[in-house]
Amino acid sequence: MNLAYKTLLYGGLYRRQGIEKDSINGLVDLKKLPTVSKSDLTRNFYEAIGKPRDVVKFHTTSGTSGTPTVVAFTHNDWDIYVKQNIKCLRLIGANKYDIIYNATPYGMFFAGLVLHDAIIGLGAKVIPAGALSSTSAHFNLFELFKPTVYIGIPQYLLKLAKDYLDIGKDPRELAFERAYCLGEPLNEKKRKLIEDLWDIEVYCGYGLSEIGAGSECCEKVGFHWPVEDVHVEVLEEHHSKGELTYTTLRKTGTLAIRFRSRDLGHIIDEPCACGDKSPLISHIEERLDDLVKIKGTLISPYAIDSAMYSFKNVRNYLFVIEEIRGLDNVTIYIEGNNVNSLLIKKAIKNATFITPNTVKMVSKDSIPLIGRKGKRFIDLRKENSYNNIIQNFAKAT
Ligand SMILES: [Zn+2]
Repeated sequence: MNLAYKTLLYGGLYRRQGIEKDSINGLVDLKKLPTVSKSDLTRNFYEAIGKPRDVVKFHTTSGTSGTPTVVAFTHNDWDIYVKQNIKCLRLIGANKYDIIYNATPYGMFFAGLVLHDAIIGLGAKVIPAGALSSTSAHFNLFELFKPTVYIGIPQYLLKLAKDYLDIGKDPRELAFERAYCLGEPLNEKKRKLIEDLWDIEVYCGYGLSEIGAGSECCEKVGFHWPVEDVHVEVLEEHHSKGELTYTTLRKTGTLAIRFRSRDLGHIIDEPCACGDKSPLISHIEERLDDLVKIKGTLISPYAIDSAMYSFKNVRNYLFVIEEIRGLDNVTIYIEGNNVNSLLIKKAIKNATFITPNTVKMVSKDSIPLIGRKGKRFIDLRKENSYNNIIQNFAKAT
């Protein structure tokens, strides 16, 4: 609170609302404070920094309406994040004997670098692969170093397996034992698909640049959360689902105080069977920013992803919504073998209550990589910047 009151963002906000610093004496008093959103941190990142002089690095994260959010780290903050990630790696069963393949990009987005430091902190060996240009470049490193743990985006792990099979090799024969998946939610069907293709255990992590990270353990039921660093509240305000709202307790760079994550989930009350004492946050049930209205129905891209990967032969897909003569039009482009488009239409209808207008099979690797994580859900009614790339792709198919 001492730091927060010194910042323009929080200090200004609290003073305007007449909230005295002395009235906040513990976590129970947090509820007296207003919540903040990502846009508050995006507007002027400098106003949210607790100790500006102690900042040693800046990272950015995707923000609302295309403006990145800047997250400022002090030495203290980076240490906290590295320790959290070491704990995450332990939770998924990694240890110092592992050779860990870090396929998370090293750059303005912080995750690659923080995981790199965490792997070293764990005493394991890191292969800093970052984002290589081709799957064959990854295969060379897999065969050269025989890594035992993979860290990266699940969709790419799936692509790697299928591409390895395509060159007549079996991913199960590589040394991988487990994967730590980040960057996008993973539904159980896709998790199973990846686990079977690689013959590994797949675990997920969850975190936000502004606040920190937690991870699944062997039970895979939710994320063990570092409550000593980040307080979590659940605000019940969205169709009886709770919005996870976080407060950083020990950071001194970018402060997040009652930061609304737009992620819906809940806190799991029972102790975890793995024996770890830290509380569990459920898997994310929905991301408010991801929900879209199509043909008058509110749709979750999660439901679509889950429906698509109930088909084992789906390699990749692109779900495009556009407005044609005043009506919502949905086209799904699919990479895969022997996929029946009628069955796809039916599965999407069952999952979302809308029927796609067109389902089109396209050739392998033809779907363009959109965004850092490879977006599979494009709403051209709002995301005009993707218009050219989608139109060119549609013409070529
Ligand atoms: Zn556990």
